This record gives sequence, C-alpha cells and structure tokens, in this order.
Amino acid sequence: MINRQVILAARPVGLVDATTTALVNSPRPECGPGQALIKVGMISIDPSIRTGMNDTAGYLEPIAVGDVIRSAGAGVVVETNSPRYQVGDVVFGMTNWQEWVVAHEHNAFSIVPTGLGVDLGTMMNVLGVTGITAYFGLTDVGRLTAGDVVVVSGAAGATGSVVGQLAKARGAAKVVGIAGGHQKCAEVVNQFGFDDCLDYREPRLAGRLRAACPDGVDVYFDNVGGEILDDVLANLALRARVVLCGAISTYNDTEKSRGLVNTSMLITRRARMEGFIILDYVSRFAEAQAELAALIAGGAIRHREHLVPGLENAPAALNMLFSGANHGKTLVVVDSAVTLD
Ligand code: NDP
Repeated sequence: MINRQVILAARPVGLVDATTTALVNSPRPECGPGQALIKVGMISIDPSIRTGMNDTAGYLEPIAVGDVIRSAGAGVVVETNSPRYQVGDVVFGMTNWQEWVVAHEHNAFSIVPTGLGVDLGTMMNVLGVTGITAYFGLTDVGRLTAGDVVVVSGAAGATGSVVGQLAKARGAAKVVGIAGGHQKCAEVVNQFGFDDCLDYREPRLAGRLRAACPDGVDVYFDNVGGEILDDVLANLALRARVVLCGAISTYNDTEKSRGLVNTSMLITRRARMEGFIILDYVSRFAEAQAELAALIAGGAIRHREHLVPGLENAPAALNMLFSGANHGKTLVVVDSAVTLD
C-alpha cells in the first residue's frame, strides 16, 4: 500500500512552491512491536511550518531537505501493538504531511476525548494548540485583568479570534483587533464580537490606534511582529504587557527588517514584553481546554475552520496564511472519514 507524503524538496525563499515541496509515494509503514498505525485525517496548517523549513535555529530542529514536512495533525488508529492505543481511537500528534504515520515511543500521540460535542475541526482549533496558545498567552503571559484595554493583531485568524473573545469573556474593558482589509475587520467585530477592528493596510495605524485606545493599551497580543508591533508599542499604557506570540509578517522575509524603533516606550511606560512557546504549557493543556470548552458551549466563543481538501493542497494552504486568504483555522482534510462521531 502507498503512503502519499509531501516532502521538503529544497529550502524556500519566500513562499513555498512546486520547486520547494514535492508529493511522493512511499510504502505504507508497518506497525511494529509496541507501535500503532494511524490513518491521518486532518492536518493543522500552522505558520511555524514555514519557519521550520529555514536552515536556522528555532525552538525545533529545521526540517531536513528530503524529509516529510513536519506538522501536527489528527488521525485514527487502525492497527495497534501497544496497550496505549485501541483500534478506533482518534489521536492527535505529529502526523506530518502524509497519509499514514506510526506512533512509537518517541512520538506519542494523545487520545482525543469523544463526547465533548465538538467536531474534529473544532477540536483542532479552539480546543487544540491554537486555542490553548490564545489562552495561556493572554492569561499567563499577558496577565489579563478585568478592565484592561486589549489589542490583538491577526485578529480574524485562528489564534487572534480566540484571544479577543476570551478577553471579553474575562472582563476586558475594550478589545480592539488589527486585521487586513475591510471584510476581515467586519468579521472581527460582527462575528467575533470585538469592540473595534483596525485595518493595517490603511495608513497611519499608530494614530488610529491612539484614537481607538485614548488611555493606552494594557495588553497587546502580538501575532505579527514588524511595523504593527512598533505602532502598538507607541501606544502602551502604564505597566502594559506585550505578549510576543508570533511574527508572521517576517516569516517569509529574505532580508532583515529595519527593526523596532519604539522600544523606549517599554521604559517610559514601565511595560513588559515577553515571548512564549506553547509547548512549555503541555502539562496545563487540560486547564485551558476546560474553560474554552465551556465558553464554546455557552456561546461566548465563536469559531471558524477553513477546510482545504486534499493532502496535495497542503503547500497552497500554508501560503494562504501569508496572503491572508484563510478565514479561520486552516486545516487540510486528508481523509474526511476520520471524525469524532
Ligand atoms: P492565522 O489563522 O492567524 O493566519 C495567519 C494570519 O496572519 C493571516 O490570516 C493574515 O491575516 C495574517 N498575516 C499574514 N501576513 C501578515 C502580515 N505581513 N502582516 C499582518 N498580518 C499578516 O494563523 P495562526 O492563528 O495559526 O497563527 C497566528 C500567529 O500565532 C502566528 O504568528 C503563529 O506563528 C503564532 N503562534 C505561536 C505559537 C506559540 O507557541 N508562540 C503557537 C501557535 C501559533 P490578515 O488577513 O488579517 O492579514
């Protein structure tokens, strides 16, 4: 049997394309002693997949040229020689961009609970790494307190949309999103309930932010980095917290950017700027999932998944994150028969 895989054919400069990724046929892996064979159902398309393709130090090793592209995903156990897994278990872990994967002692998969009343896409969005990133970034790193003025970039996206809604649910005085284009800004306000949303493609973002947050920004959840981060730094309130979650505006850069110019605001406003990686919170994931599941059930968190059918379309799906063509959490459906029903 065949295992279709997407491999890194060459290191990309800028967006991925047909010269930097390749669809290949490999033999389906065997299920060895202590192992489980997983049929991949859905792949999570995350911006960090692109940074993993660079030959530079990150929080994980670079993906080697010729290797299957590294990615989280979900699948169903179809064969098992391990007491940890039962046939039929839906599992989450590092599936990578392929149709079949073997779980062994070095890549343990977590078993996705059934009966939560959510589908697999929701589980991989708000109740998965995306929502959990929003949760700990806002509560733990951002130290949100009721009455804060919160600004979130990437506000229409998977992480940003949860950040803003969670901030509202936890009593933020005002939540302002930053997104690209009128349509996305309208979604942020009308669908996700933010108080306001600013289009970063329009000029004078810093000035418009000052008008929207006249007393300054208490918590800034940064998904994009670059000039937008700099514009928010210019508008910090006293003792503000700047949460560095991602810097997607820089992930395809081929040369170094000009850097930040407003960092002295961290001094004058006695503010704190801190980065984080969600993998550091694995032992506390259940805590976040419990609150997020309750907020979904109560209607306080709305969500949207952007499903892209076909493993072969994974590279195009990755590029959507950088053009902004995605609407919500981007997931590639490898096998639609894998569900939580
Ligand atoms: P999203 O669903 O938010 O999709 C990415 C969005 O980024 C696009 O829709 C686009 O929105 C926006 N974007 C792309 N290029 C630019 C640009 N040049 N300037 C401004 N906005 C841009 O993706 P995720 O929710 O998966 O990821 C959001 C961020 O969170 C990323 O930076 C990611 O790396 C980070 N992250 C960090 C983690 C951690 O552990 N620290 C864990 C998971 C994610 P628009 O159309 O509005 O431009």
